[in-house]
Amino acid sequence: MKLSALGRFRRYVVHVLGDYLEYPGDGRVRPQIPARDLLGSLLLGQVLRESSHHAIEALVHSAARRAMGVARPFGDDALGYFTERLAPGPMRQAVVTVVRGAKRNKAFEASRWIGLALDGTGTGGSAAWHCLLCHPITNTAGAVLGHTHHLSLISVVGTGLTLPFDVEPYGPGDSELRASERLLERAVGTLGRRFADYVVVDGAYANAPFLHRVRAHGLHVVARLKDNLPTLANTARQHFEAQPPQQTFQVGADRVEIWDADGFDPWESLNWVTVRVLRYRQYKPDGRIFEAYWLTDWPTAQIGSRALFGVAKSRWEIENQGFNVAKNGHDLEHVHHHHPASLLIGWLLVMFALTLERLYRLRYLHRGSHRPRAAIELVRAFRLSLATAVPCDSG
Ligand SMILES: [Zn+2]
Repeated sequence: MKLSALGRFRRYVVHVLGDYLEYPGDGRVRPQIPARDLLGSLLLGQVLRESSHHAIEALVHSAARRAMGVARPFGDDALGYFTERLAPGPMRQAVVTVVRGAKRNKAFEASRWIGLALDGTGTGGSAAWHCLLCHPITNTAGAVLGHTHHLSLISVVGTGLTLPFDVEPYGPGDSELRASERLLERAVGTLGRRFADYVVVDGAYANAPFLHRVRAHGLHVVARLKDNLPTLANTARQHFEAQPPQQTFQVGADRVEIWDADGFDPWESLNWVTVRVLRYRQYKPDGRIFEAYWLTDWPTAQIGSRALFGVAKSRWEIENQGFNVAKNGHDLEHVHHHHPASLLIGWLLVMFALTLERLYRLRYLHRGSHRPRAAIELVRAFRLSLATAVPCDSG
């Protein structure tokens, strides 16, 4: 029988994940339901955008179960129990293996440089305190209004394929910067030192210890320059405002002006010889103007102004293709089971599903010159698979 759209995707996933679905680090003592059924359903739930544990319970109790490759039904309580006890390490390693495989298969060959973006976000609000990752939200008088969670995300960017591949939660008393540093250390350890060329980050990361850490891994760093570095920001502003732009070019309908200079003095604690600063001013057709300053250690001889502009812009991928898609299409904000271990597994599953879906849709299915399918078109095809080509089950 010809495989359905979902059947082909499942075959692809089993192929790229190897035996991970069989041995995912299941911490249950006497499991009744195979881990691959629970984990496979959680991943498919993400891809189908039906990711709540109740939605998955409904799917595996329906005629869709066979199309999902699940042997027998289970309840949402089984998913809660399973995710509390599932080890995050093997899942992180599985995603990294997929991302490394993508590079080996030349998924990024159209771009000269591979970037890693890091950023944090808040997600999964609740009224009451439930877990060690719950941050209280207070008003100016100090009264607790509710609770939320925070996580840092790391993603491959700048390659035409945004692949988010690891998250690190941070609870009260921890910070985005520290969580992102742990992410970066882990990523360099698992992806390998020569996987990426640069790290791109917001201004909050533009401090000497973080910049030193990135350089120590042999990576260039491109960070937004804001007023948290007032001396450098003011010096660069004065320098550039005294001269016309060095380059002007079109990006789509936008006109972009660029100023770029090497040779700024590093601030006291930064051990670089000089700092390069890029300024761009981007004019939108509707009259809006966006201006930003970026700092980098990357020498002009290795990367020109226009390419550096592209690298700086790749930071937006973690916002747009990372957090925005995860929140708007994949329920990142939803707390499926309020336990810190389950929360982490839930967030990792979102990123895992995004990376698998993108590689499948934009690389595996996209051969030749036709337009690649939009994410939602593939979701619709998968949903149709749930209802078709399933023999009537009288049992
Ligand atoms: Zn919590």
